[in-house]
Amino acid sequence: MRLALLGPPGAGKGTQAVRLAHRLRVTHLSSGDILRSEKSAGTALGMQIRDFIDHGKLVPDALMIRLMENRIAQAPGGFVLDGFPRTLVQAQELARFLDSIRRPLDVVVNFVLDEAILSRRFEGRRVCPVCGSVYHLDTMPPEVPGLCDQDGQALVIRPDDQPEVVKERINTYRRSVEPLVAFYEQKGILVTLNAAGTPNEVTAAVLKLLQDRGAGKNV
Ligand SMILES: [Zn+2]
Repeated sequence: MRLALLGPPGAGKGTQAVRLAHRLRVTHLSSGDILRSEKSAGTALGMQIRDFIDHGKLVPDALMIRLMENRIAQAPGGFVLDGFPRTLVQAQELARFLDSIRRPLDVVVNFVLDEAILSRRFEGRRVCPVCGSVYHLDTMPPEVPGLCDQDGQALVIRPDDQPEVVKERINTYRRSVEPLVAFYEQKGILVTLNAAGTPNEVTAAVLKLLQDRGAGKNV
């Protein structure tokens, strides 16, 4: 099974990638994890990556593609791609590579979420500035409102979770995912799934969808 996941930040894509890889017995390939591990490994590639990340820049497509191709080559049993491809160029290069080894993607799951629900997932988040514990006003509130369960510190909203920043992040994502959606739609492997349910519900929905498509024979 070869799967790629698309979805906005906050839709639970990373969580689903871990669960699906486990259930489908394939390798979870998270671009974020891979970048971090390469960076800390101190390889030549890692040094280049460090340079981009430390300067707040996106890792260029060519580098990202090389990195992911290496990892895909080490996952003969299949994989779930998480955070890659992120641009049309990455998607095109990935397709070229997978075609060349005769292992094209089976399905691309496009997670969608109502904008109001998505915003609330960020705006309800509170963090402890001392120990880093993360809370959510709706789903994981602290025992005493506004205070950390661990050390009683006053909880704060991260700069990234401020409404204007969240809105901008969502808009940026929407613009960047459109060409990917069109690309995979044209290939006939895109499925769109509402990610509003609980993590269990969403995982079950993806597995059912794979089975319905006849792509999840080993589920
Ligand atoms: Zn704390």
